Amino acid sequence: MIKAQRGTKDIIGLDTLTWQMIEQNAKRIFQNANYKEIRTPIFEATELFKRGVGDSTDIVNKEMYTFSVGGKDKSENSITLRPENTAGVVRAYIEHNISRQSPPQKFWYFGPMFRYERPQAGRQRQFHQIGVELFGAKEASADAEVILMASEFLKSVGVDNLEVEINTLGCPKCREEYRNSIKEVLKPYLGELCQDCQVRYEKNPLRILDCKDENCQKIFEKEEIKKVILNDYVCEECSQHFEEVQKYLETLGIKYKRNKLLVRGLDYYTRTVFEIKSNSLGSQNAVCGGGRYDGLVEMLGGVPTPAVGWALGVERLFELVQKVEEDKLDYFVVSKYPQYALKLCKELREKGFKCDFDMQNRKFAKQLEKASKVANFAVILGEDEIENNFYTVKNLATGEQEKKNSI
Ligand code: ATP
Ligand code: MG
Repeated sequence: MIKAQRGTKDIIGLDTLTWQMIEQNAKRIFQNANYKEIRTPIFEATELFKRGVGDSTDIVNKEMYTFSVGGKDKSENSITLRPENTAGVVRAYIEHNISRQSPPQKFWYFGPMFRYERPQAGRQRQFHQIGVELFGAKEASADAEVILMASEFLKSVGVDNLEVEINTLGCPKCREEYRNSIKEVLKPYLGELCQDCQVRYEKNPLRILDCKDENCQKIFEKEEIKKVILNDYVCEECSQHFEEVQKYLETLGIKYKRNKLLVRGLDYYTRTVFEIKSNSLGSQNAVCGGGRYDGLVEMLGGVPTPAVGWALGVERLFELVQKVEEDKLDYFVVSKYPQYALKLCKELREKGFKCDFDMQNRKFAKQLEKASKVANFAVILGEDEIENNFYTVKNLATGEQEKKNSI
């Protein structure tokens, strides 16, 4: 017996209706706001993620599904199942010269992502993300719009009790100062930090603030470290941009909280970062995360292009939404003559009705029993009906029966 792989799940049965509801709402909300769908391949050159997500991230260091094809192991042949989709969308944006079109260009996507992680509640190896990416606008209105998209989408699926947390990481210039101060103040504690953070200390010290290790968390509580974290290192322009983003959110009635520890896992963020969290999901409580990534397009070989976006975990969202229940069929055709029954089904389906029939030609009573389980009405097609060209339609809720010439 071959089973599904660890950390993967079949989406099956009634759950698919809820998945469809989520996808339909995403499509409606984003397309109403002029976002175009983008579907990129699920595998890309490994190099894309190394450069685009960043060498110092957990995603690239620990979680990639990387393999080479044709027995070759040269890096140019190394491919990776996408762990996230921003890098792929940026690659497509550059490859198709989208920067030549009038900005901003707005995209949304829905699809599977792959990360080799320890499976647990809210954490799978194949999971799905919905996301948006907006290119070509450096203005705070763009940050605000993408946050609005997340909030409107969540509202559309009936989830509106989540917390929006925001922070600013500044631009590469002001971040340098922040980074150095963090390094300096953490230096005496270097030996006490976890293994991962010791590596982060050299490669990407800001990421230390994102560490979930209890011991590390305790260290961040120390007065002198807190002071550095709470100090605003961001430069005048970055600070003004952040102020503006917050004003927009207030105008839009989006409640948010500033979280100065929020740095996000990816290397490419600049200025605004945000997360949307639920307090009913246990420890994997982040549903959506995103931010501005003004340097990424250029870093991957495109013309300098400001950009901002987010990704949302559909499995985690699924836990929060009210599940969709199945509608009954409009009609179930009850007949000893399957060829007539199927023909009638064809006609009813063409008219837009949901209907089905009994393929196995079971006894009348059995068919009727099935009909009352799955449909609102039974259409009885017996000898009399076929000969005299009418239908007997039975309301399965009331038991009322009616002869009809057409349906
Ligand atoms: P976490 O801290 O939970 O590992 P992350 O920072 O790695 O999250 P992102 O890369 O920001 O996550 O991805 C955005 C969203 O995708 C997350 O907020 C989460 O809802 C979802 N997500 C990420 N990894 C997984 C996974 N392995 N299984 C299910 N959902 C995931
Ligand atoms: Mg993660």
